[in-house]
Amino acid sequence: MSKETIDYDIVIIGSGPAGLQAALHAGRRKTKVAVLGKLKNSSLSRAHLENYCCMDNQVLGHEMLEQGKKQALRSGAVFYEEDVLDIKNDDDGHFSVFMESEKILKTKALILSMGISRNRLNVSGEKDFLGKGVSYCVDCDGGFFKGRTIAVVGNESAAASGAMTLLLIADKVHLIYQDLLVNDSLKNQVEQSDIITHPGRWVKAIEGKDGVERVILENGESIDVDGIFIELGAKGALELASKLGVTLDPENFKYIITDKKQGTNIPGVYAAGDICGPPWQVAKAVGEGCIAGLEAAAYAKKR
Ligand SMILES: Cc1cc2nc3c(=O)[nH]c(=O)nc-3n(C[C@H](O)[C@H](O)[C@H](O)COP(=O)(O)OP(=O)(O)OC[C@H]3O[C@@H](n4cnc5c(N)ncnc54)[C@H](O)[C@@H]3O)c2cc1C
Repeated sequence: MSKETIDYDIVIIGSGPAGLQAALHAGRRKTKVAVLGKLKNSSLSRAHLENYCCMDNQVLGHEMLEQGKKQALRSGAVFYEEDVLDIKNDDDGHFSVFMESEKILKTKALILSMGISRNRLNVSGEKDFLGKGVSYCVDCDGGFFKGRTIAVVGNESAAASGAMTLLLIADKVHLIYQDLLVNDSLKNQVEQSDIITHPGRWVKAIEGKDGVERVILENGESIDVDGIFIELGAKGALELASKLGVTLDPENFKYIITDKKQGTNIPGVYAAGDICGPPWQVAKAVGEGCIAGLEAAAYAKKR
């Protein structure tokens, strides 16, 4: 039996804020749009937002996603809440997207908005205290730790610059790392700051009762803290993008490179949101999604 193939003008992979905003704008340009991916896997589903313009009260991320889906449906987009397993450039300049359900979606334009998966420490307490003192995003959650004591763990610039940012907010900042792999300028800034450094150390466990109270290091040392930021860099959902020949950032291959119109090096392929690099914020994801949606619609209409 042959597999079902369905034609679209635009296929959007990812149903987070970037993908939903792209769907809204592309749908309103009267293009046939499909949105793929599970809402519950969006980073936003775990967030409480208080730094998004024009929304003064803390908003629950999963409620925003439901609203965004309703809006995108109203603009004509079709949803498939399943993952994409494979993707390929067709000979006619179109793209084929292979789904979990074995459907194949054929499309003139593609928008990649698969977000990032945050690297985990995988230590005890990490999952239990997520949102109760454990965070993966200084820009998102730093403000909750005003005047408190905080730890940051990580070897790369995300950890060092995160610790510098937290110095402006928290009372005490501990930076725990095995080896600080950052440029000399950032290293000097850390060394000359009030950050309490723990070189050659790593976290073994995160402990507390209702929230984080202490971190235990591998040498058995215990540090009393109100929270910990796990800043191990971010790995983009880039395998699919690489299959299409999309150019990644040459420094660490973690993000997709786009131009100001959110276009990649492959004609007809656009990208938006966390997958295009930091800052990992809803405001940026939505802005890029808007541009990608409009540009992909214009491209699809020309073909
Ligand atoms: C705990 C937490 C707190 C946060 N707090 C804030 C905050 O206060 N303020 C703020 O601005 N930002 C915050 N953020 C960040 C914000 O949630 C992200 O920047 C935003 O969600 C990025 O949107 P996105 O659409 O690029 O990616 P995401 O929202 O991560 O969506 C990615 C989508 O891609 C889909 N996908 C991935 N792989 C596949 C595949 N193979 N096939 C199909 N679909 C796929 C997923 O299912 C998901 O739907 C927070 C994040 C976390 C985790």
